[in-house]
Amino acid sequence: MQTHFTPAQLADPATATAADILRKCVHCGFCTNTCPTYALLGDERDSPRGRIYLIKDMLENDRPADATVVRHVDRCLSCLSCMTTCPSGVDYMHLVDHARAHIARTYRRPWKDRWLRRLLSIVLPSPGRFRLALSAARAVRPFQGVLPGPMRRMIALAPSAKLPRALPCARAVYPAVGNRRRRVALLTGCVQSVVGPEVNAASIRLLTRHGCEVVTLSDVKCCGALRLHLADGGLDQARATIAALTREAREAGLDAVVVNTSGCGVVVKDYGHLFRDETDLASDAAAISALACDITEIIADLGLAPPVNQPALRVAYHSACSLQHGQKIRSAPVKLLRDAGFEVLEVPEGHLCCGSAGVYNILQPEIAGALRARKLVKIQSIRPDVVAAGNIGCMMQIRGSDAPPVVHTAELLDWATGGPTPGLLLTTVNTVKPFLA
Ligand code: SF4
Ligand code: SF4
Repeated sequence: MQTHFTPAQLADPATATAADILRKCVHCGFCTNTCPTYALLGDERDSPRGRIYLIKDMLENDRPADATVVRHVDRCLSCLSCMTTCPSGVDYMHLVDHARAHIARTYRRPWKDRWLRRLLSIVLPSPGRFRLALSAARAVRPFQGVLPGPMRRMIALAPSAKLPRALPCARAVYPAVGNRRRRVALLTGCVQSVVGPEVNAASIRLLTRHGCEVVTLSDVKCCGALRLHLADGGLDQARATIAALTREAREAGLDAVVVNTSGCGVVVKDYGHLFRDETDLASDAAAISALACDITEIIADLGLAPPVNQPALRVAYHSACSLQHGQKIRSAPVKLLRDAGFEVLEVPEGHLCCGSAGVYNILQPEIAGALRARKLVKIQSIRPDVVAAGNIGCMMQIRGSDAPPVVHTAELLDWATGGPTPGLLLTTVNTVKPFLA
């Protein structure tokens, strides 16, 4: 694609990067076929190619963002399905990130939107505040009918059951079982540490059983992903995470930084790019990115221990966009689940997002709801006993009384290799009873 940036514009490294990305696009439109928002809305401006044109036009003309650009960029899930499809290797992820930063600088959103984004950005990355907010949501759930729309949406997403107990907040070291093969830091996630501590507990058991000494760090709360996606900060949290992990690596050694929330994994693996121009941080950021791996990558690398339970369940593997498109991890989780003794079924149309996409399901509830409904039809068509996913956002989005139980891949691998039955499968024992016998 021809671009017309002036030398003065290209003097800004971020604009120069965006211009390089834009030049790679050859307008072929292959990406439109795999874009969930284009599939739903059928508007070229809600396709990757259409968004690329809108972004190019805005940046080249040095224009502040307007309501049209904001509407179509906001509707992008950042699922990165387009990057998997694109034959020219267009780095859409960094282009849309740049566009979001431009929008944040140049566009004043309506006050309700500003308020909601600020609230999400303050509450979600802080486990303490998020826990408090969820407790409040449970208390006001009976009165949600009189609350404004965004509040109702947040309350609908809050788990109705009492929150599980979190893992200890202090730095903790979990010794390897048997010979120590690796020493790893596990990122326990901000949202996940509140709504899915069982995922972290299963991950720790799985890793230690496979010879990893696991450290969890008290000063790593949020990797920055949530606020970065909202274009409302996040760099400070990323810096703090890099500093804490670098300190741990220097003082006690780290072979890997294990991430079990694939949305966070994309960002941690991108720290090197994010901080490439900060001379005092660039090399540490690149080193942490190089250490980062998804939990299924490290278990595949270590070799799955022989299963001790043979849970003959039909597992629908939901491939989170951040895992399949963002990190290009597709076959490892499926192979691990099969090696563990599960019958693994791939979800038809599995390249399409479930609508979770960080806080997208709160900010764009109609599109997110339509994508969830579409995903559920595909999941139900293969009649699974359980759905496995590698991202807490997808797990929360798909869960519901109309869905099979949804657990993390690590919980199933932990169970098969000697851990306890995932709690959600115990409480839905009727669904899986024939296979638990
Ligand atoms: S990231 Fe996903 S929603 Fe956004 S343009 Fe690409 S395919 Fe479409
Ligand atoms: S597939 Fe790639 S090159 Fe083709 S229009 Fe989409 S982004 Fe551009």
